[in-house]
Amino acid sequence: MLSRTVIRSVFTSLKVPRITNHRSIACLAALSETHQMLQKTCRDFTDSEIMPVAGKIDKDHVYPAELVAKVGDLGLMSIVLSEKYGGTGLDYLAYAIAMEEISRGSASIGVTMSIHNSLYLGLLEKYGTEEQRQRFIPGFLDGRKIGCFALSEPANGSDAGAAATTATLKGDRWILNGTKCWISGGYEAANGIVFATTDKSLKHKGISAFIVPMDSQGLSRGKKEEKMGIRGTSTCQLIFEDCEIPKENLLGGKPGYGFKIAMQSLDAGRIGVASQALGIAQASLECAVDYANKRVAFGKPISKLQAIQAKIADMAVRVESARLLIWRAAWLKDNGKQFTKEAAQAKLTASEAATFCAHQCIQVLGGMGYVSDMPAERYYRDARITEIYEGTSEIQRLVIAGQVIKELSG
Ligand SMILES: Cc1cc2nc3c(=O)[nH]c(=O)nc-3n(C[C@H](O)[C@H](O)[C@H](O)COP(=O)(O)OP(=O)(O)OC[C@H]3O[C@@H](n4cnc5c(N)ncnc54)[C@H](O)[C@@H]3O)c2cc1C
Repeated sequence: MLSRTVIRSVFTSLKVPRITNHRSIACLAALSETHQMLQKTCRDFTDSEIMPVAGKIDKDHVYPAELVAKVGDLGLMSIVLSEKYGGTGLDYLAYAIAMEEISRGSASIGVTMSIHNSLYLGLLEKYGTEEQRQRFIPGFLDGRKIGCFALSEPANGSDAGAAATTATLKGDRWILNGTKCWISGGYEAANGIVFATTDKSLKHKGISAFIVPMDSQGLSRGKKEEKMGIRGTSTCQLIFEDCEIPKENLLGGKPGYGFKIAMQSLDAGRIGVASQALGIAQASLECAVDYANKRVAFGKPISKLQAIQAKIADMAVRVESARLLIWRAAWLKDNGKQFTKEAAQAKLTASEAATFCAHQCIQVLGGMGYVSDMPAERYYRDARITEIYEGTSEIQRLVIAGQVIKELSG
């Protein structure tokens, strides 16, 4: 079994074998050999461990705890967390590559990996106090325990600044009341980052973020949602009824920074969701090509038909455009530059590519695309969520247009 140490040494080693397969040459020209090696490690893991069971995970609606732990053993459940806190300490480009490869096998495992890395560990490392990092990071490094992120509410999804959940300080305890909804991993998570209003008069500037153990008294979970896709992870409401948490669990120790924290962390989170979408798109493309090479119609493989080739060309262009945008956003983040617009562009392009490619894959497979013996219909169902969570496609367009208009208006 590959280990966290292997992933680390893969990343730091200069003596890695050159990858010469066609896809690497075509798409990975800009990647270092070490990133390519990381990609190969994740790809091999996905092919051998995830692909054979991904359909069953989807059909049975089960959270694949053992498989997430194996992803953790590879160091991928704390891939960007610095080594100082026990993480794997890789960069966001490595994260994007690993997310794509894991999601190519199972978008459900992809979302668990993405939220835990970007929106739990990422927030604690960036915004937590040193005491909070020491308390809430250990134990969450290897996939055995995961964190969730609770921003959305029944009445406020895209309009996250209108949080109705409240947190009131009483003595040395915060008292939380309200309902969060659509929380990925709500049933599996051991801790959550929860957003609540500490001063309503300040509107979005009165929102704060809290670290909430999921076994806190006064916190209960709603029913598991019956979902179209990503069925290998739970999604549920979190209901807070006079839920008490210690005063020290206010993320960063200062109230009023919650909205800023949420928006900044969603920029990074969007690189994760974009990579999840890209994994689905790449899987759809590979499935379509494989089937088209094997399926014979009118005496020849359908991959020789112009109509099928046109679909494959359109899919490939979208996949590779999305990949380049994701890598650009990751590179900007890794180099300490602004990446809000670029992350939104990457997410918009990749999520639309995922839906497009899964749709085309079904068409290339004909009847076999429509039944669950083949993964195409799962790709299609999984793809749709990437256009909704961590900001809908409409919201990505607002973010991009806002930045572009600012840039071009001098
Ligand atoms: C499976 C799943 C998992 C999720 N996981 C999480 C999670 O872990 N944590 C979490 O906090 N949330 C999570 N979410 C919530 C998700 O982020 C929201 O559903 C999403 O932000 C959209 O919010 P909404 O559903 O309230 O839609 P609304 O905001 O009501 O939007 C409805 C429609 O109106 C459009 N719209 C809204 N405002 C505008 C605008 N200003 N301009 C143009 N169009 C607009 C939207 O694009 C959309 O088409 C999850 C959702 C799902 C379905």
